[in-house]
Amino acid sequence: MAQDITERENILRMRKNFIANASHELRTPLTVIAGYLEMIQADEQLPESLGIAVDAAISQSIRMQRIIEDLLTLSRLENSELDDQSCSVIDIASMLQGIINNEKTLIIDNSHTLNATIDHDLKIKGMQTEINSACNNLIHNAIRHTQQGTEINVIWHMQPSGTACLVIKDNGQGISDEHIKHLTERFYRVDKGRSRDKGGTGLGLAIVQHIVLRHGGKLDIQSSLDKGSTFTICFPSKRVII
Ligand code: ADP
Repeated sequence: MAQDITERENILRMRKNFIANASHELRTPLTVIAGYLEMIQADEQLPESLGIAVDAAISQSIRMQRIIEDLLTLSRLENSELDDQSCSVIDIASMLQGIINNEKTLIIDNSHTLNATIDHDLKIKGMQTEINSACNNLIHNAIRHTQQGTEINVIWHMQPSGTACLVIKDNGQGISDEHIKHLTERFYRVDKGRSRDKGGTGLGLAIVQHIVLRHGGKLDIQSSLDKGSTFTICFPSKRVII
């Protein structure tokens, strides 16, 4: 049995290393290809028919670059422990306000409403870039994966138990039960075509899950079809600073 476990761990390590190495190796050639494509795109003498092809190639290379960056982020999260030295006190209220302001500029024709109920005194100790990425992912998802007219509520509060929770609640189309437990798996999307069209890599929730776990927290997903979804991340009281 001990041998089985060691073997499984070795295979897992090999898989993780392979993904990290492959992503790293692909990064440089892709940057070169994207650079040349941009040069071709800028050529004013480029025939229209070729222009369409070059535009499509550029948008696909941007997609590939996003996937590679997300895979590298996931590898880093998987292969390293959260270092206490890189943690600081995070002013979540102003972080959320920044994300919300930015998202509001991206909402076209008032298609979505974003409301916030934020406890301004509630802070946590953690890694700023990671927590920012997790919050950003969830808020961005609530806009990208819901239809026009959706209302999104962002709540940052302390529970009676002392844990600090971020709740992102939308009244969008919701997600059916059979998908919910798979959402944090790599590349799992409810609607592959739609996610790709919206620029998604299918890695966002896997990244959120890793970040939250590294901080000793928990990600909870509740959703019902036609009613909406609620994504909650809670951080343990030992990370809370008031
Ligand atoms: P991506 O957004 O890049 O597709 P994610 O891992 O962030 O990948 O999300 C996985 C899938 O979960 C999405 O493709 C989408 O189908 C579903 N999803 C995430 N957030 C929501 C939401 N607020 N409402 C409905 N579906 C959602």
